[in-house]
Amino acid sequence: MRVSPVHNIERHTNNQHGVVHSSNVFAAICVCDAVPRAMLQNFKQFNGRHGCGYCTHPGDGRGHARVYPITPANTFDERTHQETMQHVETVLDSTEDSVCGVKGPSPLILLPGFDIVKGVPPEYMHSVCLGVTKQMTGLWCDGQNNRGRTSHT
Ligand SMILES: [Zn+2]
Repeated sequence: MRVSPVHNIERHTNNQHGVVHSSNVFAAICVCDAVPRAMLQNFKQFNGRHGCGYCTHPGDGRGHARVYPITPANTFDERTHQETMQHVETVLDSTEDSVCGVKGPSPLILLPGFDIVKGVPPEYMHSVCLGVTKQMTGLWCDGQNNRGRTSHT
């Protein structure tokens, strides 16, 4: 399949007074499930090394899961569109299958002004409906996890 860049999605209309209005259309975000999100971005999937689509953390493989522990001594930069485009160029010029989790160009980068990182947010189903909010609230509020850091007096 060949994908061509989208240029200048612009529409001109005349109103009843003969005034020309021009409208430009941009794709601001692309919301989808985690598996197709990585495919659309052409990134490694969430369970692969450098599988986080938002930062450069390589993650630690633990059994069948990949975790991304953050400590004060273990922080990683957020991904940027510009840096991702550099990774695309690097992986295209190399024999590696990916660079920092970026496997190659994505058709989404052909959309004018589309940010390949910020334009693909976490989706509602996994972030809210499937228990992440419930889990985080439980972790924050459960007395078992208190360790004496807060007081109930
Ligand atoms: Zn991350």
